[in-house]
Amino acid sequence: MNPRFFEAAEQGKVQCHLCPNNCLIAPGRFGVCRVRQNREGTLELPFYGRLSAVATDPIEKKPLYHFYPGRQILSVGFVGCSFHCPFCQNHHIAHDTSYPTEYISPEKLVELCRQRDSFGISYTYSEPIVHLEYVLDTAILAREQGLKNVLVSNGYINAEPAEQLLDLMDAANIDFKSWNPEFYRKEIGGNVEEVKRFLKQAYDKINLEVTTLAIPSKNDSSEEIETIARFLASLNPDIPYHLSAYYPQYRYRIPPTPPSTLHRLAEAARQHLNYVYLGNVGSEETNTSCPSCGNLLVRRRGYSVVVKGIEEGRCVECGAEASIAGV
Ligand code: SF4
Repeated sequence: MNPRFFEAAEQGKVQCHLCPNNCLIAPGRFGVCRVRQNREGTLELPFYGRLSAVATDPIEKKPLYHFYPGRQILSVGFVGCSFHCPFCQNHHIAHDTSYPTEYISPEKLVELCRQRDSFGISYTYSEPIVHLEYVLDTAILAREQGLKNVLVSNGYINAEPAEQLLDLMDAANIDFKSWNPEFYRKEIGGNVEEVKRFLKQAYDKINLEVTTLAIPSKNDSSEEIETIARFLASLNPDIPYHLSAYYPQYRYRIPPTPPSTLHRLAEAARQHLNYVYLGNVGSEETNTSCPSCGNLLVRRRGYSVVVKGIEEGRCVECGAEASIAGV
């Protein structure tokens, strides 16, 4: 358990270089994420391996729709986060590091994955990047055993640690919260350019999917969502894009996203992307159709998933590549 991605600074401080916050941490204090601490001039990780949640979830819950559809994945959460979103849906673990946790070593977690017959491990629920040392240590062991590694994250990480992370991940769902730099800066405490940089770094290395939580009056204009979709399409128009309905959480009291808004935004995103999905909208079907001929490839109702129209990775009707891993 060696802390990485930091250097000693003047007056006993340490500078963490893991995420673009680049916290300069005074002795005894924590960084913005509240889990990386300066103890006597060196960075310590008092929350290494301390998990706030361990569960087996459908991969669709991450959400990942184009990676081993219908399979269950061992999912683990931590505490702490590099952002402070006032609408955080997991604020009880993201912003309260006194939340009960249990230490599970990387070896034990991989063993648990085997016992539960899961095809891999998903690092999720709270922000896994601020626990990168544990994620890397576990992902190495998991990969050695033929298991998959899946990241669910805000994508806020500097380029060098991101390279190490991407080398070990197989798939990821990254939050793209807004195109608006002011929204990232004022509401969240982040820099949207850094998230874009990470997406550019990641898109051709792993199975990448992207999610935007559509919040009324904040980021729900068709123009904004179309701009995000255009950016993603410039990387790859087959990147699956999830538009998720917001519900009042934590410090936000804005009413929930109406389904009609989500449908309007999906239409805007479909101008540029081949696979756009609605999330958090109850029992609506979220199927995958072939972008070439419209043939139904995967039928989803809730977490009930049937792969119907794919053989050897191609649409059975027109032969176009299905762009879905693990089928
Ligand atoms: S990982 Fe935490 S301590 Fe390091 S720069 Fe980011 S917020 Fe600061």
